[in-house]
Amino acid sequence: MPSQIRKALAKIVGDAHVSDVLVDRICYSRDCGPDRAGVPAAVVRPAAAAEVAEVLKLCSRLEIPLFVRGRGTAFLGSGVRTDSIVLETTRMDRVAHVDTDANWVRVDGGAIWHSVDAEMRRLGRELAVPGGGGLFSCTIGGSVAVNAIPHALTEYGMTGDHVLSLDVVLPSGEFIRTGSAANPGSDPVERYANGPDLTGLFVGSYGIFGIIASVVYRLRRAPESERFAMYAFEDYCAAADAACGIQTQEAATFLVGLFGGPKPAGLDGDAFLHIIVRGDATPTAERLARAKAVCEAMGGRRVSADGTRSYWEEHMYSWLRNTPPGPYYSDRPYFCPEVAGFVSTQGLKRAIGLFREFVQEHREEFDRFGIRIKGVDAYFSRNGAFLWIDTLYDERREDAWEYGLRLRAQIADLMFSEGMSPGGIGAGLTPLIMPRLGTYSGLVETLKRTLDPKGVLNPGVLVQSGGMS
Ligand SMILES: Cc1cc2nc3c(=O)[nH]c(=O)nc-3n(C[C@H](O)[C@H](O)[C@H](O)COP(=O)(O)OP(=O)(O)OC[C@H]3O[C@@H](n4cnc5c(N)ncnc54)[C@H](O)[C@@H]3O)c2cc1C
Repeated sequence: MPSQIRKALAKIVGDAHVSDVLVDRICYSRDCGPDRAGVPAAVVRPAAAAEVAEVLKLCSRLEIPLFVRGRGTAFLGSGVRTDSIVLETTRMDRVAHVDTDANWVRVDGGAIWHSVDAEMRRLGRELAVPGGGGLFSCTIGGSVAVNAIPHALTEYGMTGDHVLSLDVVLPSGEFIRTGSAANPGSDPVERYANGPDLTGLFVGSYGIFGIIASVVYRLRRAPESERFAMYAFEDYCAAADAACGIQTQEAATFLVGLFGGPKPAGLDGDAFLHIIVRGDATPTAERLARAKAVCEAMGGRRVSADGTRSYWEEHMYSWLRNTPPGPYYSDRPYFCPEVAGFVSTQGLKRAIGLFREFVQEHREEFDRFGIRIKGVDAYFSRNGAFLWIDTLYDERREDAWEYGLRLRAQIADLMFSEGMSPGGIGAGLTPLIMPRLGTYSGLVETLKRTLDPKGVLNPGVLVQSGGMS
């Protein structure tokens, strides 16, 4: 990196917070997913929104691509390019204000989800969704930028559903505050104030429209009771029907289905449902009883819910299969080229059937490249299911890496053409979904060009197809 650019960055954030050391640059080139990326020229770590704005203005003036990074825990690829700058947000980690009467917290975009949630619990509150599986490491800003699929999706909805207001630094370096708080002096109590939902423009935008400097998030009262159940089904279609019944009954706070991958330790069956109910004691007991009745009517067999409880309390994915992480992930390093997306609960039956056929047809290749199926798991939402098809390959094998990327494209092509819509648009996934979306992707690109005419901010995320006709 030219020394005058390094000096200019150091003037904004302080010399200690700019690095052009190779090992740092390599560490910041990729997220947790399998996508290859360029090694950036520098990493910069601002401490405040004003510094973010100055970095953006500098990059815009010099037309240097700038990639935003929280903790890099996403799996969909960030598209970092050689000769770019990566801006990491984690020095912006203050809890700026808590209002336990109106139940909101204003927090910097770089704060870690779990640490903010832990702080709210000391006040008898919690963040309005518990976070996704990455909650111990991911940032609040990153979770809003990807609109993470949270635990408790079934009752509480998506991460973005509970954002009341955002402070965003636009690619021009200007600031915008969204929701009722856009009116100076107003509290951030309503997202849908002052006309169009500009908060929604940035939720799930993967940082292409601006950098989220702070988030106002809804709080909920910590519940008094949590109850758990688990059912095994001999036929995955019966499990999907049971899930449909539980959704209609509004009987679960979080309903997770296991439709493939390793079976939970010690259990027989073709599919499994984990049921978690939270709330006040009496309604929680009633709702769990309704969920159990539905499962039993669909032929479900009640099994121990110890794994369900461990999963919920420890937020450790492997407990969905009754096992601690060590034996589940085994002793070799893996990467996960995941394909995930929303389908209707009935549509889940077709998606699972298709994936099972796909695995049969590709069995020889799976064996040759050492591909494992980590899970074919559904987080049920209010109206459908978010299906995670997680395969793993040995990251030390170059040929398995190539195959893993090809495999993701094939599975995505199969699923997206059969009605699945992905939750996010990371760089590794956009080429597989955006071309299907017609005017929708055209409008996204037009908005991108309007807000970021030089294409400086997170330029790797969108595939350019020319915008709207
Ligand atoms: C073990 C594990 C389990 C996981 N489980 C789940 C799960 O259950 N559900 C789920 O949805 N995800 C899950 N994830 C993925 C990941 O945790 C989420 O996507 C997470 O919310 C990303 O946050 P981050 O801070 O790491 O963002 P990053 O990975 O750093 O960034 C993700 C994207 O957001 C952009 N971005 C980051 N911060 C900002 C900002 N302040 N402003 C604008 N753009 C920004 C980046 O440019 C990038 O495009 C899991 C990850 C791991 C490692």
